[in-house]
Amino acid sequence: MKIEKNIEEFESLGDDHIGTSSNTPLRNDAFRLSSEEKIDIIKDDVRHIMETLGLDLTDDSLNGTPNRVAKMFVKEIFGGLDPKKKPNASTFENKYKYGEMLVEKNITVYSTCEHHLLPIVGKAHIAYISNGTVVGLSKMNRIVDYFAKRPQVQERLTIQVVKELQDVLNTKDVACVIDAKHLCVNSRGIRDIESSTVTSEFGGKFKEEATRREFLDYIKLDTKF
Ligand SMILES: [Zn+2]
Repeated sequence: MKIEKNIEEFESLGDDHIGTSSNTPLRNDAFRLSSEEKIDIIKDDVRHIMETLGLDLTDDSLNGTPNRVAKMFVKEIFGGLDPKKKPNASTFENKYKYGEMLVEKNITVYSTCEHHLLPIVGKAHIAYISNGTVVGLSKMNRIVDYFAKRPQVQERLTIQVVKELQDVLNTKDVACVIDAKHLCVNSRGIRDIESSTVTSEFGGKFKEEATRREFLDYIKLDTKF
């Protein structure tokens, strides 16, 4: 009885997409198994799900699915759980003495909702004001991609991107806005294909109205090439 109540509580938590922490909830023994060992175990789990659903795994089209899904989970869509895959933090001295805001916008986000294991697809916009250190532009894309390749809630992803860049750039003056579609909302449940979710995290000077406004105005610029 108690367990059923808990399941109900957890289910409603998931549908409201509430996250519990800005750190991805990983166990201490998360990397006790190698990637290959994880793929082997998950392969059997996926096969079990498919068989339980009544699918005939001897069919040529379904035969390779458990292995394909297991590899995709470990190496691709959840590959960002592995701290060894974190983009290295090479930075440069701000030789041009550029002291204004730098904005990298329309960074593609492919992530996975941790409540339903369905895709989150959208755009991230990042800004920072250098205090003497700069990063290569593609580093911002890589940081977004690394944290996106985890079971995620969008709020946590936004905060993790900002925290990482604050560490790398050694400044609090970092901001991130993410606008994304959640397939768990768009394709099942309420099935609203039009809705998207916007999250933001503003650090340091971006908490000030004028700086925040400038960043949001740049995002609105319709860049076409
Ligand atoms: Zn979801």
